[in-house]
Amino acid sequence: MSLGREPGGADLRHIDTWLFDLDNTLYPLESGLSARMSPRITDFVETLTGLSRPDALALQKRYLAEHGLTLRGLMDHHGVDPDTYHATFHDVPLDCLTPDEALRAALARLPGRRLIFTNSDAVHTRRVVEALGLAGLFDDVFHIGSAGFAPKPSPTAFARIVDAHALRPSSTAFFEDAEHNLAPAADLGMTTVLVGAHAPASVAPFVHHRTTTLAPFLESARVQEAVSP
Ligand SMILES: [Mg+2]
Repeated sequence: MSLGREPGGADLRHIDTWLFDLDNTLYPLESGLSARMSPRITDFVETLTGLSRPDALALQKRYLAEHGLTLRGLMDHHGVDPDTYHATFHDVPLDCLTPDEALRAALARLPGRRLIFTNSDAVHTRRVVEALGLAGLFDDVFHIGSAGFAPKPSPTAFARIVDAHALRPSSTAFFEDAEHNLAPAADLGMTTVLVGAHAPASVAPFVHHRTTTLAPFLESARVQEAVSP
């Protein structure tokens, strides 16, 4: 049994709506993609502000901590246009990602709706989903533009996705690598799953399930029987 697996599989028989974060959740942090993205954010902040690189990195991290998303701080304090910001990431090489057949099969067996709920933008999300071989599996992508640029973990972001997709929290599960993004989901009554190498060490009471790797967790989970059409 891999670390974080639950004997007999997690009981998710009450779930009919499956929300997935994108970055570092549908693919692992260890892929190195986030490590490719972060310097581009620093480049952007450095060019925008004229700060030294260490100060630009510090500002990037401060906005991330204070706003849940560096972009939100850049919009609020510097009037940055989100399309201009996002365009800087649309040519990030994705050769560090490979089609994930196990995840594709594990997602495909889930009964009900599958949605992506991400602080990233639509173009990055589409590129990553295609690189992972997961295209066609999701009913919709609720990206940062869909959220009116209110990032997770703000309650506004959650209120907007609940409203946009008429989510019933009691039958919704949310999968995330960022522990603090699960708190508002649990407050709403969603079932929360922390994903990633750090997950087994989490002791936060709002984290209901933990797994190092998404695919085997989903494979072993007990879910509703699919209803025949
Ligand atoms: Mg993430």
